[in-house]
Amino acid sequence: LETLPRPEARRVITIANQKGGVGKTTTAVNLAAALAAHGLSVLVIDLDPQGNASTALGIDHRSGVASSYELLIGEVDMSEAIHQSPHNENLYCVPATIDLAGAEIELVSMVAREGRLKNAIDHTALNQHNIDYVLIDCPPSLGLLTVNALVAAREVLLPIQCEYYALEGVGQLLRNIELVQAHLNPSLHVSTILLTMYDGRTKLAGQVADEVRNHFGAVVLKTIIPRSVKVSEAPGYGLTVLEYDPASRGAMSYLDAGKEIAERGAATVKVRER
Ligand code: ADP
Ligand code: MG
Repeated sequence: LETLPRPEARRVITIANQKGGVGKTTTAVNLAAALAAHGLSVLVIDLDPQGNASTALGIDHRSGVASSYELLIGEVDMSEAIHQSPHNENLYCVPATIDLAGAEIELVSMVAREGRLKNAIDHTALNQHNIDYVLIDCPPSLGLLTVNALVAAREVLLPIQCEYYALEGVGQLLRNIELVQAHLNPSLHVSTILLTMYDGRTKLAGQVADEVRNHFGAVVLKTIIPRSVKVSEAPGYGLTVLEYDPASRGAMSYLDAGKEIAERGAATVKVRER
């Protein structure tokens, strides 16, 4: 695989959509593995108490492991919460344990409750590991965990499932992003929309893809992630699809998505510099 250009500054991308089951976690882990396979260093921060991203990356996330929960409440710092993938030396994870389920409520009474993840990310541990990309996997809600993810990032990646009601809830998410942008994080923007679980045999999937492209334009990646059994099987083995079946269509499509995101990011930086 070709080595992709490292971004000039570390890119922090929050993967959000308050609808469950649209492919947030699948995208977080497989996109991370794809960027890592292209020679970049990537950290996945699991912010869903379910810990599915941690599972898929093969990272222990039993209660007691230094995780995103301890990081948010300030019990550990990034150097303790960061774990290296057993399968790829370029890939790291801050896992989520079930303790995170209580954080949404515990955070309410804490100082700087919306900025706690951002503060945790601004840590030398990320420089020591040369982290190029931070991908944050959000829970399916718009609560304080997701707000922390939106404050910590510059970019939002919005996965949209090629299904009925694909755009349900997207308007609400975009309004929340605008609120965070106005009050907490002026540089936040939706940089990437990724169409997921595309089933080429159905007319509907094509219609949804067209509708999303008409509505959102160039922010939608050219690469579409197909519905593929390999993609859904991989996490059961504690693997990303790139490790589970590197030649599969699912693996190839995430490699393409990673390349597109990396090259597009570099282009954006150039445009701004002129
Ligand atoms: P979310 O994190 O948004 O809730 P997930 O990434 O967990 O969504 O995906 C929901 C379900 O769909 C999971 O069982 C996952 O394995 C499956 N899935 C996701 N993407 C694909 C795909 N491209 N092909 C087949 N199954 C997929
Ligand atoms: Mg998820």
